[in-house]
Amino acid sequence: MRRPLVAGNWKMHGTRASVAELIKGLRQLALPSGVEVAVLPPCLYINQVVTGLEGKAIAVGAQNCAVEPMQGALTGEISPSQLADAGCSLVLVGHSERRLVLGERDDVLSRKFAAAQSCGLVPLLCVGETLEQRQAGRTLEVVAGQLGSVIEELGAGAFAKAVVAYEPVWAIGTGLTATPQQAQEVHAAIRAQLSAENAEIARGVRILYGGSVKAANAVELFGMPDIDGGLIGGASLNADEFGAICRAAGN
Ligand code: PEP
Repeated sequence: MRRPLVAGNWKMHGTRASVAELIKGLRQLALPSGVEVAVLPPCLYINQVVTGLEGKAIAVGAQNCAVEPMQGALTGEISPSQLADAGCSLVLVGHSERRLVLGERDDVLSRKFAAAQSCGLVPLLCVGETLEQRQAGRTLEVVAGQLGSVIEELGAGAFAKAVVAYEPVWAIGTGLTATPQQAQEVHAAIRAQLSAENAEIARGVRILYGGSVKAANAVELFGMPDIDGGLIGGASLNADEFGAICRAAGN
């Protein structure tokens, strides 16, 4: 039985004041006990969020990490060991905004994935196709390539302590959502790809859906057999909406 996970990606949003407000809202939420909940603030606010959520069952993670696990000479980066030291337990790897805007390639992402795991962080690997790729009928091929490159580098065993997030690029921040059937098709393909390497790991790995998830569409999406929760962008900046999405994952 896979425990659902709902993670809120705050992206590059927030000020000390707005983060304090959001923490206040999150602290007041009634969260379902069967669902794991996490928030991923900008690095600058991780300390504030870890302190502010003390005693609340919400994990804190980061949106990115360095390719090297330990601190050292790598200007502008933050190492997984530093994130762990700050109280993080998970980290996004390969969000499409980083793949597309910053040009992060699969080989770099495998290094980040491995570095995160070596420091005890759970990497949350994001995969997904652009609109152009979907329209060309290449969705499954693109996603298989992104997942396959990590499997090739690190082996399917690396997914014993990792999470995959399927996020169609055309659905991120656009208000367009994949239908539950469209999402399920890709989630099932991701699980099948892992299963071909290691059936036990495939059965246990959580695969989240991300892309304009709101309270209004979460129940249907989370009701699909291979969707184990969500990676939530915009809607996670509103504590009440985020709480409603978390409760939908508990249904
Ligand atoms: C995301 O950034 O991972 C995301 C899914 O964003 P949104 O929910 O805003 O589409």
